[in-house]
Amino acid sequence: MALVYDLTPKAVPEINTAYRRIKTKIPVPESLPILKALARFEPLSMTGQPPIVWHRADGFQVFDKWGNKWIDWSSGVLVASAGHTAPAVVSALMDQIAQGLLHNYCFPSEIRAKLVERLVGLAPEGIDKCFLLTTGSETIECAIKLARTHGAKVGGAKKLGIVSFEGAFHGRTLGSQQAGGSPALKEWIGSLDPNFHQVPFPGDWRCEDKSFDLFLKTLKQKRVTPEKVCCVITETYQGGNAGFLPVEYAKKLREWCTENDILLVFDEVQAGFGRTGTLWGFEHYGVVPDLICCGKAISSSLPLSCVLGRGDIMDLFGPREMTSTHTGNPLCCAAALASIQTILDKGLISNAAVVGEYLLRKLEDIASRHPVIGAVQGKGLVAAVHIVKPGTKDPDTELAFRIVGSCFEKGLLMFAPVGFKGATVKVSPPLCITKEAIDDSCLAFEEAVAEAAKS
Ligand code: PMP
Repeated sequence: MALVYDLTPKAVPEINTAYRRIKTKIPVPESLPILKALARFEPLSMTGQPPIVWHRADGFQVFDKWGNKWIDWSSGVLVASAGHTAPAVVSALMDQIAQGLLHNYCFPSEIRAKLVERLVGLAPEGIDKCFLLTTGSETIECAIKLARTHGAKVGGAKKLGIVSFEGAFHGRTLGSQQAGGSPALKEWIGSLDPNFHQVPFPGDWRCEDKSFDLFLKTLKQKRVTPEKVCCVITETYQGGNAGFLPVEYAKKLREWCTENDILLVFDEVQAGFGRTGTLWGFEHYGVVPDLICCGKAISSSLPLSCVLGRGDIMDLFGPREMTSTHTGNPLCCAAALASIQTILDKGLISNAAVVGEYLLRKLEDIASRHPVIGAVQGKGLVAAVHIVKPGTKDPDTELAFRIVGSCFEKGLLMFAPVGFKGATVKVSPPLCITKEAIDDSCLAFEEAVAEAAKS
């Protein structure tokens, strides 16, 4: 059974810095009825995060009702890139509510037109259509559907293979989970589609062979020939380890896909909208995918996602054949337009690049003093701190979990560890975070690493 945080309130040292305040027992005794109601009425799978009850969030900080405040290293789960409750997002939502339109299904609306035009305008040349959805998983399902349809058109019924990467995460629905690269997460499926294939991810610090030959060799071993493949899907960086493909590898992958009429799909659900210090994460590779799956930070708040792609692929289905009930919900569109504008106007992409570089150096510095940190990976404002048994690459799941718990008690909020064996501490603050707040949070982080490693 997965690890969970203790719900017995415990006295912790008081914290009072410019950005963090902890003045109660943790978890807050008054919050227990809420935590218990959630545990009683929601599935067990919804538990397991540090026991904070969010009341309000602003910029890069999260507040509870009882006077505590945290620096947010989670952005929810990489959603609030423009900052929590960014003023432009809040006022766009107020305006949309005042206008009096909360839902319109696939009937046209002006705000949806504005958003899809905006998104296509921000996408690279050749990406000329946008389909709005609600969740990241749905965008992967949609990409799979489009890729298989495209594959059948250009290569016949056998061109239906989906190639993705070990360790990848693309969602928890039937198709997206099979595109993922963690066998344990697929056990529930029972009868796996044999046309999903995973190859090693060369950006993972544990993967020594970084060559594109490994991709070709693995497919050969699995007897997967290019004429049986309709698409390759990869997260632009892997959420579980914040590792990127080597640039040469990405370029060769692009060429191989083009030569073989195979679509290249980048899952930008985490990487998009500035997270890595560029608007799109794939800009680091100097290649353009055929389909782009986006979600999370697209609105910095309300549930919205989209698939962006080449027009000939996006138009494979006829009128009313590829739709969704909440496609382009007007409130979500208003939030997305304002969030994107905020990210661009406030220079948050370059802030992610500059402050991100600063953060990575600080984390590497901390790693040099603490042998329980095996590696730090990342780019821009996403980092993965891999917790290990000292001197090895063996993950230390319990220690990673305790580090996140200890940070939480010090006013630094992260979600529970992710990645290989759940031993990766992920750092992903809102893109508006400052160097001063990084300094303050790294103090808490290093103390937590030291204390957790001792206990
Ligand atoms: N792709 C990636 C890269 C993700 O990180 C996630 C969610 N963590 C998903 C897809 C699935 O998104 P959702 O939870 O919105 O369905």
